Amino acid sequence: MTDLTLVNANVLTMDPARPRASAVAMAGGRIEALGAGPAGAGRVVDLRGATVLPGFHDAHNHMVGFGMSLSEVDIGSPPIGSLDELYAAIARRAETTAPGDWVIGSGYDQNKLGAHPDRDALDRAAPGRRVWLRHTSGHMCVVNSVVLAALGVDAAATEVPGGRVATDSGGRPTGLLEERAQLLVGSLVYPYPLAELADAIARAGAEYLKEGITSCTEAGIGGGWVAHSPAELAAYAAARDSGRLGVRVELMTAGEVLHPLGAHPGDNLVAGLDLGIRTGFGDDWLRLGPVKIFADGSLVGRTAALHGAYDGSDGSGYLQADAADLQAAIIAAHRSGWQVATHAIGDRAIDVVLDAYARALAQYPRPDPRHRIEHFAVVQPRQVARAAELGVIAVPQGRFATELGDGMLAAVGPARHGWLYRQRSLLEAGMVLPGSSDRPVVTGAPLLGIADMVNRRTASGAPFNPGEALTAEQALRAYTWGSAYASRQEHVKGSIAPGLLADLVVLSEDPTAVSPERIAGLTVLATIVGGQPRYDSGALDGLS
Ligand SMILES: [Zn+2]
Repeated sequence: MTDLTLVNANVLTMDPARPRASAVAMAGGRIEALGAGPAGAGRVVDLRGATVLPGFHDAHNHMVGFGMSLSEVDIGSPPIGSLDELYAAIARRAETTAPGDWVIGSGYDQNKLGAHPDRDALDRAAPGRRVWLRHTSGHMCVVNSVVLAALGVDAAATEVPGGRVATDSGGRPTGLLEERAQLLVGSLVYPYPLAELADAIARAGAEYLKEGITSCTEAGIGGGWVAHSPAELAAYAAARDSGRLGVRVELMTAGEVLHPLGAHPGDNLVAGLDLGIRTGFGDDWLRLGPVKIFADGSLVGRTAALHGAYDGSDGSGYLQADAADLQAAIIAAHRSGWQVATHAIGDRAIDVVLDAYARALAQYPRPDPRHRIEHFAVVQPRQVARAAELGVIAVPQGRFATELGDGMLAAVGPARHGWLYRQRSLLEAGMVLPGSSDRPVVTGAPLLGIADMVNRRTASGAPFNPGEALTAEQALRAYTWGSAYASRQEHVKGSIAPGLLADLVVLSEDPTAVSPERIAGLTVLATIVGGQPRYDSGALDGLS
C-alpha cells in the first residue's frame, strides 16, 4: 500500500508530539507513518541526510497577479535603479508594442527611484502606447496621458471616493492614481479573459513548486481593484481541471462581491455569495477562505491610516471607506458565518478593525472564528494585547523588511520603529503567526521570507525592528503549521503526522542548523504534493 518512503532523512515534522524523524512513508496521498517505514513497500528514496519539512504555505499572495507579472516589464529590480533607467525599459518594450496597445510594468518604488514616474516622461518613452505602471505595494499606479485621456481625467482633478487622482500644483493630473482610483484603469482592461487568467495561475503554480510551496492563499478575487474578473474562481477551476493548478489554493473572496441573499430572517445570512457558499466550501485542492476587506492602504506609499502623521509630513493616511461602513461590513460578514481577513496597516486602521471584531464577537458570538488582520504593520503594544485577547491572527510579511524596510522606517520615523511588523511579540502574546509574502509585492520564495523573519535587515543593511526577530524554528513553523492554522486546515496539513496530507519539501540542509545568513541560499531539492513529486531537481531520481 505504501507508495513512497523517504529514508535517511532529517524530518522536521512541526508536530510537537514528535518533532523529528528519520523516515516518512506515504500512501494514498497522505502520510502513512514516521520512522523507519515499512521496508520494501513501494518506492524507497534514500535522502542521504537531506531535510524534509511540511510543504511551505504562503498565507497571503496574489497568484494571478504574480503569474501575469511574469510577462510584464520588471521595473522593481536591478538594473532599474533610477527613473531614467525605468523610462529606458519602458521605451524598449514600446518598440515591440503596437500603438494603442498596453505597456504594463510592475514593482516600482518611489523611495528607491526618488519620485513616482511622470506621465509626460512616459509619453516620450512610449509614444501612442498605453502605459500602466503598478507601484510595488499594489496600492497605486502611474499611467500616461493616452490612458488618462481614455479615462477622461487628463485635464482636471477628479474626486474618487476611497482614492485619489494626484495632481500637480496647477491642478493637472500627474498620472498617479492611488487606491480606489486604480479602478479607473481597471475599467479599460477588466474583465480579463478567463483563459488568460488560468495561464497566469499555471505559470505561478509552476514557480511555486520550485520554491517548495505546496499551498497558498490568494488574498482577494472577484471584486475591487485586486480582481481580474468577476468570475475569477472559474479561472482557478479551469487551471485545476487541466491539471495546471500546481499547488493547493485557498481563495479569499473580495468583500465587494458579498450581497444579501434573501435567506430566512432567522438564518443570520445577511451577506454572502449565491447559494449561501462561504468560507470552507471546496476541497483539499481548491477552497474558499475568508472574505477580504480593505481598511486602509500602503505604508511605503504613505496612504495607510496612522494615528500620528507620517515622518516629515502632516499627512496621516486615510481609511478606504468611512469607519462605520467598514465596521458594518466586517460585522455583517462575521454574522453570516465568514472568516474575515481585513487589510489594516496603520495603527488607526488596526483600531477600527479590532473594534469591529470585538463588536462582532459580542453581538454574534461564534466559537473560534479566527479573524485575520493582513499585514498588521504599525502596531502599538496595547494593540498586540487586544488582538491576542480577541483571537485575531495577524498576517505580517517577513520579506517586507528587506525589500520595503528602508521606505517603512522612513515613513514612520524612529519613535515608531519598534511598532513595525511585529512577530516575536505576537508569539509571546499567544497569537498564531502564519508565513506569507504578498507576492508580487515582493519576491515571494519562502526561504527568502524565512531568512528575513530571522535576520530582519533592510536592503541597505539597516536593522529592521530587530527585537521582533524569530528563530529559524519559529519562522519555519509559521510558514507551515501557522499558515495551515490561519486557513483552519491544521488538522489536514501544516505538519507531518500520520493521516495528514503528504505535502512535503526536501531541502539541501536544515535551516535550523545553518547560520542565519545561509538560510536564503539553501536549495529546494524536491516538492511533493499529495504524495506525488511535483518538482524534483533530480534529488529523488538521483538518490533512488
Ligand atoms: Zn496583498
